[in-house]
Amino acid sequence: MKKKGILIVVSGFSGAGKGTLMNRLLKEYDDYALSISATTRKPRAGEADGREYFFKTMEEFEKMIAEDALIEYARYVDNYYGTPKAYVEQKLEEGKDVILEIEIQGALKVKEKFPDTLLLFVTPPDANTLKNRLVGRGTETMDVIESRMKRAKEEAKGIENYDYLIVNDDLEECVKEMHQIISGEHRRCFRNMEFLNQIKTELKES
Ligand code: 5GP
Repeated sequence: MKKKGILIVVSGFSGAGKGTLMNRLLKEYDDYALSISATTRKPRAGEADGREYFFKTMEEFEKMIAEDALIEYARYVDNYYGTPKAYVEQKLEEGKDVILEIEIQGALKVKEKFPDTLLLFVTPPDANTLKNRLVGRGTETMDVIESRMKRAKEEAKGIENYDYLIVNDDLEECVKEMHQIISGEHRRCFRNMEFLNQIKTELKES
């Protein structure tokens, strides 16, 4: 059976541990390609252009919008974030499962455009863990942490739109679980119509 790439969106509250989870998933399995977003946010210490994000000025970002170079984009706490189209299309063609690590507005836009997208939501076991992780990360000011906690409250309302919930309390378990969910998704009948039609034809002819 020829494997077709799936488009996967992973969202989660800021501080849910998505980044670490994605890095582990990509290290352990070579089925996946992680899309690199464009953003107008300034790089954090340790982030490099073209690795975590393509860091853009507002003008550059607006040019990408005008040229229809983004699958989706959204505003998140004073900055723009968007998914460049070309890389995603290329990797899907190659048969990779492409992961977009994006927030909820973007996730819903992707689902609308591509209804076969698998939507996964990562959450820590409780809200305290979330705040502790954000503070512990030490990369944001208290103001930004408060904005991100506020945003988390808003985003919580939309979680029901996602296909699966992934509770990140144990990293190793979480990575395995995510891979299993995606493997199961590949077995869905609607994703295997070519194979089903072939078997039906063979049955008819036998
Ligand atoms: P951060 O500033 O912490 O790197 O990201 C802030 C939020 O923006 C996270 O929820 C992240 O998933 C989301 N995000 C990152 N890239 C994109 C993107 O291309 N599109 C959208 N809609 N959200 C994104």
